[in-house]
Amino acid sequence: MKYQNTELFAHSMDESDTLKAYRTQFHIPPASKGGDMLYFAGNSLGLQPRKAREYINQELDDWARLGVEGHFHGKHPWLPYHENLTEMTARLVGAKPIEVVVMNTLTVNLHLMMVSFYRPTPKRHRILVEGGAFPSDQYAVASQVKFHGHQPHESIVELWPRKGEATLRTEDIVAKIAELGESLSLVMLGNVNYLTGQAFDMQALSEAAHKAGALAGFNLAHGAGNLLLNLHEWNVDFAVWCSYKYLNAGPGNLAGCFVHERHAREWQLPRFAGWWGHNKKTRFQMGSEFDPLPGAEGWQLSNPPIFQLAALRASLEIFDAATMTEIRKKGDRLTGYLEFLLDELPAGYCTITTPRDVAQRGSQLSLRLRGNPKELLKDLADKGVICDFREPDVIRVAPAPLYNRFMDVYRLVKILGEHAHA
Ligand SMILES: *Cc1c(COP(=O)(O)O)cnc(C)c1O
Repeated sequence: MKYQNTELFAHSMDESDTLKAYRTQFHIPPASKGGDMLYFAGNSLGLQPRKAREYINQELDDWARLGVEGHFHGKHPWLPYHENLTEMTARLVGAKPIEVVVMNTLTVNLHLMMVSFYRPTPKRHRILVEGGAFPSDQYAVASQVKFHGHQPHESIVELWPRKGEATLRTEDIVAKIAELGESLSLVMLGNVNYLTGQAFDMQALSEAAHKAGALAGFNLAHGAGNLLLNLHEWNVDFAVWCSYKYLNAGPGNLAGCFVHERHAREWQLPRFAGWWGHNKKTRFQMGSEFDPLPGAEGWQLSNPPIFQLAALRASLEIFDAATMTEIRKKGDRLTGYLEFLLDELPAGYCTITTPRDVAQRGSQLSLRLRGNPKELLKDLADKGVICDFREPDVIRVAPAPLYNRFMDVYRLVKILGEHAHA
């Protein structure tokens, strides 16, 4: 792609964008000084699909009209409501329907998966994680290690980039997995890494983990709705993700969970159980013996919150119509344009720490900019631009292909240029 640093070029890219109509399906927050915000925080909280309100209202109306009968006689009966999302979720992450379910929240699902798939023995007890992983993941992993009777400082192995490098090399992760060999129980990585924006080669890492006799799980908080995923083919053992970042389902909405088909009927796996994971045919016989559903659904605990599912349904329909292939295609162009424009800023002003290789990233670039990042963000906010900041000095910019325009990216870098020259 040959980019140009002109408003005309950004405009023409928007004109020829085959996904441009999707922007109108979202509420774009208004800037305080008029016009739309330049919103680059879709990796933190995605914007509201216009249909979300209608879908939630439908369920409020059915509740008002039908009371408990809404479970069976609502427009979209609540009893099987989560099944409305199964096929769209499967397509989103490259899975079979039996491998996915929407339930609970992200950290809860991470715990449920680790109860079943982190099964340390005295010899094989190590977990390989990213150094400086998202705090909730660190707490979850350390508490699981202790729960299983091991010591975090003995069992958790962290990956750090080579000296002078900002991101990890696949060959180094693979080498580490081989080195840990028979002591390794689980490879547990975020994908995309929330801070650096680096995407890992999940297929290569799953293969390496299996070769070492270990399992591979991924936290796709920054990957679902962002990366082109093929979890089934890549032989990932399990994955979890939230739906409020790229997936635009609203603050704190429900999370996704993937369990590979080969584990679908491993009844001997230990798991924390609840009635929604029980055989649908006999669930309401209220028996005392737990009879788990095959596949990911068997890990459900409670009957799910319908209003949340309704908002997520509105969003997933957009992803399903646009398709992840097209979303990623535009995402690469949009992120590539951001990268091109940042590279045109005065030398030394901006360092991009996200990999340059498009195969190793999604729609986020992590930046280090000269000057005080908090002051910069404040000025950006005054100008109606939302990016986000992570301690100690990282600014994350995520142009979301479903609602960001090339012109948004152009305007953002124009403002950064004023700072670079100040
Ligand atoms: C956003 C995010 C979380 C948040 O967890 P919740 O349980 O949804 O609050 C956890 N881990 C990673 C890597 C994240 O990016």
